[in-house]
Amino acid sequence: MDKFGKIQKVSGPLVIAGGMTGSRMYDVVRVGERRLLGEIIELNEDRASIQVYEDTAGLGTGEDIEFVDEPLSVELGPGLLGSIFDGIQRPLDKLLEGDGDYIVRGADIPALDRERKWEFKPLVKAGDSVREGDIIGTVSETELIEHRIMVPFRCSGTVEEIKDGDLTVTDTVCIIRGNDNQMHELAMRQTWPVRIPRRYVKKLFPGEILTSGQRVIDSLFPVAKGGTACIPGPFGSGKTVVQHQLAKWADADIIVYIGCGERGNEMTSVLQEFPELKDPNTGQPLMKRTVLIANTSNMPVAAREASVYTGITVAEYFRDMGYSVALMADSTSRWAEAMREISGSLEEMPGEEGYPAYLSSRVADFYERAGRVRCCGTEGREGNLTVIGAVSPAGGDLSDPVVQATLRVVKVFWSLEDKLAFARHFPAISWLRSYSLYEETLDRYLKEKVSPDFPENRKRIVYILEKEDELAEIVRLVGADSLGGQDRLLLKTARIIREDFLHQNAFNSDDTFSPLVLQNFIMSVILFYHDLLMDAVNSGVDFGAIENPETDEIISKLKFSKDLNQEYLTGIYDEIKSGVNNLRKGGAGD
Ligand code: ADP
Repeated sequence: MDKFGKIQKVSGPLVIAGGMTGSRMYDVVRVGERRLLGEIIELNEDRASIQVYEDTAGLGTGEDIEFVDEPLSVELGPGLLGSIFDGIQRPLDKLLEGDGDYIVRGADIPALDRERKWEFKPLVKAGDSVREGDIIGTVSETELIEHRIMVPFRCSGTVEEIKDGDLTVTDTVCIIRGNDNQMHELAMRQTWPVRIPRRYVKKLFPGEILTSGQRVIDSLFPVAKGGTACIPGPFGSGKTVVQHQLAKWADADIIVYIGCGERGNEMTSVLQEFPELKDPNTGQPLMKRTVLIANTSNMPVAAREASVYTGITVAEYFRDMGYSVALMADSTSRWAEAMREISGSLEEMPGEEGYPAYLSSRVADFYERAGRVRCCGTEGREGNLTVIGAVSPAGGDLSDPVVQATLRVVKVFWSLEDKLAFARHFPAISWLRSYSLYEETLDRYLKEKVSPDFPENRKRIVYILEKEDELAEIVRLVGADSLGGQDRLLLKTARIIREDFLHQNAFNSDDTFSPLVLQNFIMSVILFYHDLLMDAVNSGVDFGAIENPETDEIISKLKFSKDLNQEYLTGIYDEIKSGVNNLRKGGAGD
């Protein structure tokens, strides 16, 4: 029998209800005549505080609250890829179809299309024994991705019957006689409560780099597959471009993008731009391996919270299939602001800057869901989920509580700086303030797969950049001329590193993606050049005499190299060597 409570008070996204005995924390309820979706976030005897994920305007006291008796959950199954959902997983295109540009409230449109048929190809047969996480069949969901249908968690037994052919997500595809002798009818659609991390056998140490093709990221501040990273984004600093570059080029199979924008137009640009991006490797629309979750401006702040959990659960589901998944959340500061607002309405004791005391633990729990894991299932496959969160502190202030809570848990920080963007240095990621704690973990991989000298090259490049920073003050006070030859050379090399290596034009088709081998080659050549010049300086050649625009020019073109065959590589080293030799012989080549 349906159970109901009654609305006692409405304050913004928060509804206080009485008569709620029998409900549980985090249960979903339907609020009011329009049956708006809400979640119980506080229970006190028969009174409940309900966070409503839809616009509460017009709700009145005395209206009914209907118990749903289950936690906030997402639907998982074929049809996720290419979709754009709102925070509570309603397909935006369907919502908009119904009611012009405004989202219909209380709309109960299922996330996955109930009519559409998918060609299910079984991988098991009657009599096979299966257990949770085993793949029982596949569906070619898009040209790029095969959707693997898994036995749901806590279900194992013997296959009684398995279907083959065109089926909807709710049709029975498989019947399993459980070990308890009960029959389980499985459909391609599953559900999972968003606040609970999906299960895996164990967490593994991340050891492989998530290649992005962006030199400053991969070479200096790499993130591991299954790792966590944070990127602040002062307005106009190029955050959107960095995110698009990652979505396009990161070697992840699946991209999940959560947009918690505050202003309507922030989200509109994502909704317009993302569907136009192409997967560079296949030329197919990027959406074929992407799930977009977008809070539109007319959704209340509480929906931001739901979108973060919805997104990460969808991402975990693809990880469980054995895929490499990259999730981007933009911006987690907006999510934190929503927490602050709700916590304020609940009259909870505020922590720093009015954020609730549990801000840090919520943020930590979110990033904790990243990782490289051994998935459930007999086969023992591996999957990984990398989480990249954008933060947008007011005024770019990094001491902001959300930034601090984030930096305590993430292992990579890409410090985007508007100063660099003003100077048109892109990507505007500071080489002095950014860091990656995966460097050492990934060194073994980079040594083996790219080149034995990769870690050493990185170390030297970073050293030169740091040294440049130290010298900057002296140069500012007394000018570069007062420096010795070695230091002046160091400044020259640092400039080359910044301009010809770190700077990367996302809009130049030859420069937008740099393979790891090319990245290492550029570093090696720059250092080779630096060492030759250093020898010259050390043997008494005057610094003014080593200025050598022609050889500099060779270096500036390296990033456009296409075919890194042996002959080409040796050719470059030879050119550099003879360039420097000429200098030394000709006493400055004049
Ligand atoms: P934000 O999202 O931080 O406001 P955008 O990502 O839109 O900023 O970047 C602002 C502008 O900076 C872009 O329109 C582009 O001209 C320039 N830009 C940013 N990143 C790059 C890049 N990697 N290469 C070239 N131009 C860039």
